[in-house]
Amino acid sequence: MNCLLCNNNETKEIYNYQDGSFVKESKKYFANVRVRTCENCKISFCTNIVKENLDNFYKSIYQNFQNKKIDRFKEFNSRFFSQVLFFINHVKLHKNIKVLEVGPNNLGILPSLKIFQEKIYYYYFDQILLDHKHNNIIKLGNYFDPNTSKLPEIDLIWMSHSLEHIMPKELIKVIKTYHDALKKSGKIFIEIPNDVKRKSFNVPHTLFFEKEGLIKLFEKLNFKIIALSEIDGVDHFNFSNIKNENKTSKIEKKTFFNKLYLFIQKFIPDKYVKKYAFKHFISNGPNSNFPIIRLIVEKKN
Ligand SMILES: [Zn+2]
Repeated sequence: MNCLLCNNNETKEIYNYQDGSFVKESKKYFANVRVRTCENCKISFCTNIVKENLDNFYKSIYQNFQNKKIDRFKEFNSRFFSQVLFFINHVKLHKNIKVLEVGPNNLGILPSLKIFQEKIYYYYFDQILLDHKHNNIIKLGNYFDPNTSKLPEIDLIWMSHSLEHIMPKELIKVIKTYHDALKKSGKIFIEIPNDVKRKSFNVPHTLFFEKEGLIKLFEKLNFKIIALSEIDGVDHFNFSNIKNENKTSKIEKKTFFNKLYLFIQKFIPDKYVKKYAFKHFISNGPNSNFPIIRLIVEKKN
């Protein structure tokens, strides 16, 4: 398979997929998947993933997430919070902007964005149905398909840990479609795990970028780089020592008390949830202590 970016046919097999989590599902849907690398573009990609298998994989692992009630105290965790702080450090959040989030899972960025801009129109693609109390939340579909999905005009696209899940053959088309849907000077926020730095190659990740590869991709597709940040892993910080993290993993179980706990939350005013969450937000996350890359790009007109 030629390079997705430069079409060079001298891609190399440097890395191999490893056993990640969801071993049973991975074996079923991703037997013998392979990675090739374009050393020129600093991009690696899966050469033989089947779209149907990818969809079925998500369906099987998402079964447990379906209809799961939102824990409001987890809407604000350190990953979301630091992403938004990074973003507003570079870009103003205007009133009534239209934000599209690709793959928010059961939480997403909306509650954290709303701390800084109350008036947001929010669209998303995910197999999961979001259960936030806010207005103007519109689900556009289970997943984004560049061939069939219709997009409204958008100011900002939020891709937190979703770029590395795109079907490699569709990558260019997906980003081009986003470019078309963005308004003048529209932005995309991207965060991906730095899998190449970690030497971690696991399904369902299908794309692996180094910093230079990300820049090359977006510049080629007519975007300007506004900000880029590589964040190293935080091995020195032992997150498992934080009391609250152990507590929250216990209450995640589907016990009667957990259901009651989630039910009662509905009646707690927003400002108390926020007050608590901000005070303790470091113990509500992060989702990983692995190295990541963050990027904000702007549509060139
Ligand atoms: Zn290349």
